[in-house]
Amino acid sequence: MTTVIDGNAVAEDVRADVAATVDALDAEGVTPGLATVLMSDDDASSTYVSMKQRDCEEVGIESFHVEIDPDEPASELYETIDDLNAREDVHGILVQLPLPDHVDEREVLRRVDPAKDVDGFHPENVGRLVAGDPRFVPCTPNGVMRLLDDADVPLDGLDATVVGRSNIVGKPLSNLLLQENATVTTCHSRTTDLEAHTRSADLVVAAAGIPEFIDASMLAEGAVVIDVGTNRVEDSSEKGYHLTGDVDFESAKEKASVISPSPGGVGPMTRAMLLVNTVEAAAALTDSDVPLP
Ligand code: NAD
Repeated sequence: MTTVIDGNAVAEDVRADVAATVDALDAEGVTPGLATVLMSDDDASSTYVSMKQRDCEEVGIESFHVEIDPDEPASELYETIDDLNAREDVHGILVQLPLPDHVDEREVLRRVDPAKDVDGFHPENVGRLVAGDPRFVPCTPNGVMRLLDDADVPLDGLDATVVGRSNIVGKPLSNLLLQENATVTTCHSRTTDLEAHTRSADLVVAAAGIPEFIDASMLAEGAVVIDVGTNRVEDSSEKGYHLTGDVDFESAKEKASVISPSPGGVGPMTRAMLLVNTVEAAAALTDSDVPLP
């Protein structure tokens, strides 16, 4: 019997815990605040930011939004970040990526106050994660870990293959799994025999951004499969596309013991974990010891 993870249900539980922390902070006179910064004309980026604002509203986190014309000089964004770093009512800052070519993304990530870096992309927070002393864990890998925990997947001694080595998903996730005593293989576009690594793994996490490229033939019987991929595939529907993961769900679910679909798995968790990081930032910045989600 395959367990199909319901990411929406787990995310709902996380949001309820966040709402309880917001109430506790509120009783201490603190309203957690998240600032989103958008410097892009991209529809998807703008949708992501609106969803994050709506999520905040739902749990009582105040959201502030700054939009910068993508043709403005990079200095406009740097100054905005400096202003948000200085504001007491802003506890978390999220600069929506990607940024225009003339903006130095590394400078942006370094510029956000690490104590407000709810994306977990500041080099100080990346370093802390690798050193086993995490402060803010990037939302997507943090969401994957929460799903594995919720599904009672024992990680100690597990052979895990992570497909993808990006800074926002693959690398931090590999580190988190390692900290839980999994034996981790991180695969990428230059991996010579991907199938050998996926087929021998107890846990496969797919985060390469290639629609449905991992199917049952690449999995061991009884593997745990987490699909991070979120790919737009064009079709003849009114929207003109549908979303699909990196895993061929229909075939993979016949072989997996536990599988997280996409959509409906990691995606909702990513959004929920941003709220977790924001209330954690608010509590830390105000020296509060309220129970955290
Ligand atoms: P990315 O493009 O930055 O990285 C992709 C990684 O996959 C790279 O490390 C690359 O080396 C590796 N890769 C590419 N082709 C490969 C191949 N044939 N075999 C093995 N590895 C290969 O992407 P990303 O930002 O890490 O995102 C990965 C996927 O996860 C995308 O589909 C993205 O949309 C999705 N994503 C989903 C969420 C969510 O909340 N659900 C969040 C972030 C990313």
